[in-house]
Amino acid sequence: MTATTGILPADLMDLLLRGGTLVTCDPDDRVTAGDLWISAGRIAALGVDAAGRARASGRALRVLDVDGCAVVPGFVQAHVHLCQTLFRGMADDLPLLGWLQQRIWPLEAAHDPASLRASADLGIAELIKGGTTTVLDMGTVRHHDAVFEALRDAGLRAVSGKTMMDGGASVPAGLRETTAESLAESDALCARWHGAAGGRLRYAYSPRFILSCTEGLFRGCVERARARGALMHTHASEHRGEREAVRAALGMDDVDALRQWGFAGPDVVVAHGVILTPKQRRYMGRDRTRVAHCPSANLKLGSGVARVAAMHRAGIVVGIGADGAACNNNLDALLEMRLASLLARRFGDTGALPARRVLRMATIDGATALGLADEVGSIEVGKRADVAVIDLSTTHVEPWGEAATRIVYAAQSRDVRHVVVDGRVLLHEGRLTTMDEDDVRARARAEAVAVRSRAGITG
Ligand SMILES: [Zn+2]
Repeated sequence: MTATTGILPADLMDLLLRGGTLVTCDPDDRVTAGDLWISAGRIAALGVDAAGRARASGRALRVLDVDGCAVVPGFVQAHVHLCQTLFRGMADDLPLLGWLQQRIWPLEAAHDPASLRASADLGIAELIKGGTTTVLDMGTVRHHDAVFEALRDAGLRAVSGKTMMDGGASVPAGLRETTAESLAESDALCARWHGAAGGRLRYAYSPRFILSCTEGLFRGCVERARARGALMHTHASEHRGEREAVRAALGMDDVDALRQWGFAGPDVVVAHGVILTPKQRRYMGRDRTRVAHCPSANLKLGSGVARVAAMHRAGIVVGIGADGAACNNNLDALLEMRLASLLARRFGDTGALPARRVLRMATIDGATALGLADEVGSIEVGKRADVAVIDLSTTHVEPWGEAATRIVYAAQSRDVRHVVVDGRVLLHEGRLTTMDEDDVRARARAEAVAVRSRAGITG
């Protein structure tokens, strides 16, 4: 790396990524060799003349040599739970409802602001190191400011919301709230954080799922989110056991009820959609309700495999997410992409999700799902400069192949060299610049012991 001036702090300088393969994920899906000029947090130019224009501008310029690397839009993960990173390894080998009731709810209820911050920091560090630049995050019921503070300090882009739970069986006291309390706390968080950090942080009204939320809560979210231009986010159609419980309670499926209550449309992201019927897929496509596909979590909790190609045929925009570290157990976008592509073949559609298609799901489609496609998700002039640089010269990636297949099928998160959000370098040569990784791990270990003990989990 060379810097042409020492006057400005590196954070405020323009950035030139020199000599990479630009995998743009733009409308034409262009892949081109060349440079990328980032100025004032946005993409100023790309291609063969970008370096010349950057130098001619006279602006202070920091140059990163990315020869042998792919420069991709930063990955957008459409469903994660930063509050659960601390529970990695504490809730393995259980089916969905047992996993929730025996482990996740007691653990979430035991969070305090310090443990929640440690959990978010651990997750954010892992996400940045793996090339993720934007997440849609669902929190726990209380202390959600701690998650936003972690996101603000680390520099990740996020749409995030406290989870909302005003009903349901087996919910521990620490997670119980009335409809009015839940909506009021979400409104207050939305007022504090929606549009914060220069627009990098946004709020999502996030009722957990239909078995722990009332109709009134969902309807209240629709009214409030739409009044504030905020996203809505929930889980649905995840697991057969859950579907039976929903049918027993409501006499219909969760997505049918959500639609009846107005919780549907382009500002709604539904995590999972594993067991959608063809009819449900059709109306979700028409409504433009978005889906987040979480292949590892669906397999690990025994939920099954979502029919992504069928969702695409129905016109549904599908993003990709790792879900939480308590059911994955990583937050690795590259792993999820590879798995999404391979699993699509289970239904005989070998060509349904090729590497280029799945790379778009993890970038521009995710951005579309989150309502951020005008700002991020592709490398185009004028967009926010959120990019990841992936080394394609490593032993397990060499020697051949187009960039997308090398990224999706062969690359690993340790090949991510640089990560930029809003023009700010958050990962440089594989090292975090805004977080002390040793401190993040040490706090995570200490807080994991403490939260587990508060939750009363032994063995
Ligand atoms: Zn989830």
